Amino acid sequence: MAAVNAVQRTGAPRLEGKVAVITGGASGIGEATVRLFTAEGAKVIIADIKDTDGEKLAQEVGGFEVARFIHCDVTKEDNIAAAVDLAVSAFGGLDIMYNNAGIAGPWTAIDETPAEELDQIYMVNFRGMFLGVKHAARIMKSRQKGSIINTASVAAHTGCGPQAYTALKHGIIGLTRTAAFELRHYQVRVNAVSPGGVITNLWDTVPGGRRLIEALATEKPDLRSPVTSAENVAKAVLFLASDDAGYVSGQSIIVDGSHTVAPETPA
Ligand code: NAD
Repeated sequence: MAAVNAVQRTGAPRLEGKVAVITGGASGIGEATVRLFTAEGAKVIIADIKDTDGEKLAQEVGGFEVARFIHCDVTKEDNIAAAVDLAVSAFGGLDIMYNNAGIAGPWTAIDETPAEELDQIYMVNFRGMFLGVKHAARIMKSRQKGSIINTASVAAHTGCGPQAYTALKHGIIGLTRTAAFELRHYQVRVNAVSPGGVITNLWDTVPGGRRLIEALATEKPDLRSPVTSAENVAKAVLFLASDDAGYVSGQSIIVDGSHTVAPETPA
């Protein structure tokens, strides 16, 4: 009991003094993470292609001293490099890199998947995250510390999403593991967070997606619901970003209320 009270009493912000870059930070899971990280004392670079939303969010969470928006298209390597470099020049370093920007991609039968759409989702969901890891490592290796987090999906652990999306999210698990293994020599941790269904703008780009995800949501978003909030995912990201996860690396935390543990079976 005493130990619990001691933890409660300190109440120190969990990311005090830390600097983070969050790609896809202007909306959905990224936005919820920007809000949580800044509430926990971090300074944040919001890196996204949604300029108006990103600028507005930076103001809302504390303005220039706390958060900066940078236009960053993760399909462009120089944009990612600039976001990382801004963290260093504006806030003095880079402790947390959250590679989160993603799109849904083609939602078609595999034999009808247009190669151009496959290229596009590869550029954002895989290449963009790989380059995010690359440029974070560039800074973190010399600082001998850091936490990199990549947004995968339950689709990376099952086969439940559309083909291109699912295959590339599996790739993010491989990227996370191999980077974690290499970067352990530099005290840099690399993990993934794998959300189940979350109601975000991503579903508006899927035919019938918003209707589908809202229909799955139950009245009470507790463990019985197969759909959760962006805030619940952000809390798992916070854990991986914080020193509480100091010996956790190469892992994927599935945030799905257990819904992919086993197929639904009659009681
Ligand atoms: P969202 O659409 O609300 O947010 C995605 C953000 O990424 C947007 O702000 C968008 O502008 C940004 N983005 C897209 N392309 C970009 C680019 N080229 N460069 C920079 N930014 C870009 O969706 P979300 O659900 O919050 O998605 C965040 C991540 O979560 C994605 O990687 C997605 O695959 C993953 N995910 C989502 C769900 C879900 O059900 N919503 C489930 C599992 C995983």
